[in-house]
Amino acid sequence: MPKLFVGMKVFRKTADLKAYLKGRKNVGFVPTMGALHEGHLSLIKRCADENETCVVSVFVNPTQFNDKNDLKNYPRTEEADLALLRSNGCDAAFLPSVDEIYPEEDTRVFNFGAIADVMEGVRRPGHFNGVAQVVSRLFDIVKPERAYFGEKDFQQIAIVKEMVRQLGFAVEIVPCPIVREESGLAKSSRNTLLSADEKEKAALIYRTLRESVNFASEMTVAQVKKWVVDTINANPIMEVEYYEIVDGRTLQSIEKWSDADYVVGCITVYCGEKRIRLIDNIAYKI
Ligand code: AMP
Repeated sequence: MPKLFVGMKVFRKTADLKAYLKGRKNVGFVPTMGALHEGHLSLIKRCADENETCVVSVFVNPTQFNDKNDLKNYPRTEEADLALLRSNGCDAAFLPSVDEIYPEEDTRVFNFGAIADVMEGVRRPGHFNGVAQVVSRLFDIVKPERAYFGEKDFQQIAIVKEMVRQLGFAVEIVPCPIVREESGLAKSSRNTLLSADEKEKAALIYRTLRESVNFASEMTVAQVKKWVVDTINANPIMEVEYYEIVDGRTLQSIEKWSDADYVVGCITVYCGEKRIRLIDNIAYKI
């Protein structure tokens, strides 16, 4: 039955959101950092479809930024975000201040083991600890039945699932496919920091990943990795930080294609004059 649309509520205080959610059972939740685009909206629409109440948070979480400049430059577009939330089925938007989420410093240190000791986990020290801090705080407030996360942040989904297991949250984590520009570039809030020309050139990342899938039958894992890195680095405005081909369940690098039955290639590339950090991934075997 279609939901009766009664207009979206906007909350800035935890206590007010909690009062609104009290007694509600079927709550779906999408945590975001705002600067919303089609990628976010796919999660929000799905959340609105699958739950009686759809809650979306917009919060640029300082504890997950290991680079202060990145935090300062992160795009903030509150008015546009609220308009998009209103027109995409969100029932309750939560836009807390930093003090509201962290009335005192969060000193918790999580131990996620091997899944955190690779890729983003080693390149961005403290990043996943900050993600776990904020997502666990938000889950405590919203108490969702389901929470929606994008597969663009492939490692983040594994971390959130492990955090849920460790802390015993009764929430289903729902992974959602990557939404792309027509050019294939994965949609990202950070894309707005690229010039039009850089954005066009950044399509090379996914084009290369996709092409590399065709080579998997005739090349070794190491050869495919090298081909991807060399092809992208051949463009002077790009620099690959890493390309790892991993077991999609353990996130550990594989040496042979037969080492895992679910194989994913995860890439991070610095792009353009401002060296914007872009991430993407592709499945070789599902
Ligand atoms: P962020 O605002 O970057 O923290 O992202 C909020 C959520 O949206 C995360 O679960 C992301 O993985 C997801 N997301 C961001 N970009 C995309 C995309 N292009 N396709 C699908 N999900 C996305």
